[in-house]
Amino acid sequence: MSKIAIIGSGISGLMAGIGLLEQGHHVTIYSNLSAEDWLTKVPPTGTACRFAASIDLEEEFGLNFWKDSTPINGVHLTFCPKPGRQLIDLMGRLDRPALAIDVRLQSYTWTLEFEKRGGMTVVAQVDIPMLETIAADNDLTLVAAGKADIGKLFAIDETRSVYDKPQRKLAMFVVKNVAMDRSRDGILMNHAIKFNFFGSEGEQFSVPYWHRDGYQCFNSIFEAKPGRAFDTFDDCKTGEDVLDQAKALFKQYIPWDYPWLKDAELADPKGWLKGSVHPCYKDPVGTLPSGAKVMAVGDTANAMDPIAGQGANNGYRQIRVLLEAVKDNVEGDYSADWMRSTFDTYYEQIGKSTNAFNNILLDEISPAGIRMLCAQYGSTGAIDDTSVQQKIANDFVNNFDNPNLLTDCFLDEGIAKAYINRLTGGKAASTDVKAKMSIALGQLRQVFGRPRTDHPLANPRLG
Ligand SMILES: Cc1cc2nc3c(=O)[nH]c(=O)nc-3n(C[C@H](O)[C@H](O)[C@H](O)COP(=O)(O)OP(=O)(O)OC[C@H]3O[C@@H](n4cnc5c(N)ncnc54)[C@H](O)[C@@H]3O)c2cc1C
Repeated sequence: MSKIAIIGSGISGLMAGIGLLEQGHHVTIYSNLSAEDWLTKVPPTGTACRFAASIDLEEEFGLNFWKDSTPINGVHLTFCPKPGRQLIDLMGRLDRPALAIDVRLQSYTWTLEFEKRGGMTVVAQVDIPMLETIAADNDLTLVAAGKADIGKLFAIDETRSVYDKPQRKLAMFVVKNVAMDRSRDGILMNHAIKFNFFGSEGEQFSVPYWHRDGYQCFNSIFEAKPGRAFDTFDDCKTGEDVLDQAKALFKQYIPWDYPWLKDAELADPKGWLKGSVHPCYKDPVGTLPSGAKVMAVGDTANAMDPIAGQGANNGYRQIRVLLEAVKDNVEGDYSADWMRSTFDTYYEQIGKSTNAFNNILLDEISPAGIRMLCAQYGSTGAIDDTSVQQKIANDFVNNFDNPNLLTDCFLDEGIAKAYINRLTGGKAASTDVKAKMSIALGQLRQVFGRPRTDHPLANPRLG
């Protein structure tokens, strides 16, 4: 059995640590946060909504302690090319529920669980000299330090990375005193993620969330395009400032959801954050001054903007591959080649399409994307909706769980057409025309100040 060290007790470090313990290895996690610190000292790292394949991994290791907390059953997306006009709604049902558990509670619980199962923990701020000592003392050292400075040890992989800087400015806030069930007009989408997508300004989404203190609430985020209308959080110093700013933006730009947020309160004083993420791939191999090699995992290896809720899910995808590779490595020879080929397997299996899917949402919507949105037009999210439109909307939201499912359709109009033809019996073209006519009618009604009749969940409800 190998001696393995992990830096970081976030989702990636703990999941890898517990998985490796289960294989019988001797594992030590070094983290600057103790279990108790996670509960008392820090904000949640992110929303970290996990889709079904990730929950499966938690189940495999007996780590899903929050099964019935806040199962998320779908995504309601409202697409507005510009503020003031809702163009298209999409209401997709997830085949299997997702969960968003406050990572503070999760890391606290999992740290104790890791120790209970025989893992060692050391509370320390690891720097390069300490990393040298750790690497010398272990067969394999994994750096799962998120986006912290120590990650600079790993060079950006310019051949795989698309952006040279962050694409959004983020403001996250955790709120209580909001309705958990956002279904309307008989459409059963209680516990859905709400996604308001503004082509010109950025995005706003709200995710049903299980709070650190053990109750249901929402975790909400603004993804502001720099210099655009949502980019107003720079001067916020507290969570209350962020929430006040968010309410003002909802009132002006997202009036259909303002009544939902208007009486919201910050769930706890640390339940918020601001920042940005440079989406990039790293070389997974870091070389220490001595020449020793360490391996990046999770956000340290592949950081993503949270727009598609993929970061934590992607950490799990890396760890699945890592656990298999460690199991197969009976010699315990963790060379740089082994580290790179392990990461390459993840990249080819699912990392590539996950990052591509995330980038589709960050970039301007493509003609293929417009075709897909039109093709699902009319989806209601209702359990008994067996229409083709509903199937397409469902496939779209299930792509969050498995980005290999539909990502290509958003990248290539030919693939999108072929997919729609397959479902409609060759009617991709007429489906497109019909949807565009209904959408145009919905737009006209908005111009004349009349409520939309084109989608059951679309009518603005001003508070
Ligand atoms: C606003 C927002 C929303 C998000 N929403 C989603 C979502 O819905 N779904 C999703 O899948 N992902 C989401 N993400 C991404 C997700 O939160 C991250 O991908 C995930 O938390 C990364 O986990 P990690 O363990 O790799 O890193 P982290 O959670 O950052 O953990 C790193 C750990 O390393 C420790 N550490 C750092 N440096 C050192 C050091 N030098 N010495 C010792 N310890 C150190 C830290 O204290 C921490 O314990 C979101 C991110 C943001 C910002």
